[in-house]
Amino acid sequence: MKAAVLKSIEKLEIEDVPVPALSSQEILIKVKACTICGTDIRVYHHGHKHMRFPRISGHEVSGEIIKIGKRVKGYKIGGKVAVAPAIPCGRCHYCRRGIQSMCINLTAIGYHYDGGFAEFMVVPEDAVRNGCVNLIPPNISFEEAALAEPLACAINGQELSRINLGDTVVVVGAGPLGCIHLQLAKAKGVARTILIELSKERLEFAREFAVPDIVIEPSLEDPIQRVKKETGGRGADKIIVSCPSGKAQEDSLSMVAPRGTINFFGGLPLDKPFIKFNSNLIHYGEFCVVGTHGSAPYHNKLALTLISQGRVKVKELISHRLPLERLEEGLQLAESRKGMKIVINP
Ligand SMILES: [Zn+2]
Ligand SMILES: [Zn+2]
Repeated sequence: MKAAVLKSIEKLEIEDVPVPALSSQEILIKVKACTICGTDIRVYHHGHKHMRFPRISGHEVSGEIIKIGKRVKGYKIGGKVAVAPAIPCGRCHYCRRGIQSMCINLTAIGYHYDGGFAEFMVVPEDAVRNGCVNLIPPNISFEEAALAEPLACAINGQELSRINLGDTVVVVGAGPLGCIHLQLAKAKGVARTILIELSKERLEFAREFAVPDIVIEPSLEDPIQRVKKETGGRGADKIIVSCPSGKAQEDSLSMVAPRGTINFFGGLPLDKPFIKFNSNLIHYGEFCVVGTHGSAPYHNKLALTLISQGRVKVKELISHRLPLERLEEGLQLAESRKGMKIVINP
C-alpha cells in the first residue's frame, strides 16, 4: 500500500509498504479521508515523546471496514466508520471514573500506532474494544466524519468549561477549531458569542460561516475593554482561547467574569510555554482556568451525531483536498494559515 512514512523529524517519504497484518481482535480499514491537524504539524517538526520512527501519522480518520479480526463482534465488512484516535485502556483509575481522556495508559493512533496518512490502517484492539470505532450516519460524508475528531475535542473542552444556556462566550482564534467552538456554543444555547481574531481573512470567513454576534479585531480596538463594554463591565462568562498564543491567554484573565471559566484550549509553542499570571485576578474574581486537549470515544460518537443533525457544520471548513503524495504541501498550507482544514484522500 501507499503510505506517507515519517522517517525522522521533517523527513517524510511516500513509500510502498506492506498492508499491515491483522490480529483476531483488530479491524482493517481502507482510509477514505484523513484531515490535517495542528498536531500533525507539531509532530512533523518536533516528533513526539510517544512516537518512534518510522511512523505513519494522521489521526483524524474515516474509512471503510475491509477486514475484521475473527474475535471482533458488532462490525460488518463495508461499514463506514470514523475512528477516535485517543485509545483509553478501559481499566485504569480514570477510565473507571468515566474520564477516558485522562486514561493513565492512553495510547493514540498516529503516535503509538500507525495512522491515516496511508491507504489502509489497522484499528488496534483496545480501540475496537473501547468504543473508538463509530459508524458514520448515512447523511454525512467521509470528510465530514473525519472532522468529528476536532469537534470531539471541542465538546470535551466545552464540557469541562461548563458552557451553559444563557452564557456569554468569548472565543479567541478563528481557525477551524474556533469556528467549531462558536457553533457548538450556539448549539448549547448560549446567549451571545464574541469572536476575537487577528487575521482579517479568518475573521471575515468566520463572520460569514460561524456567525458570531460580535467580532473584535485587536489591531483596531482593545479586546479587553470591548468585552467589558459588551458585558456591562462584568466580563465574559466563559472564554475559550483557541489559539497558540500566550498573550491571548494572559488577556483572557482580564476579560473573564467573576465565577466564570477560561479554557486554555490551544497549546503554547514548546519553546514558549510560560505566561504571566496575576494570581490576584483569580483570588478576587473566583474564576476557573481549565485546559483541555483531547477527547473520549463518547465525544466522537456525539460529534458524528451533531454533524449529521446539521447543528455543527464542518464541510465548509475544508479549504483543500489533496492526494497522499502532496501531504507535505498540505502540512505547509496548514502551517501558513492559508488553508483551514486540509483533507488528504489516500
Ligand atoms: Zn486533531
Ligand atoms: Zn485507562
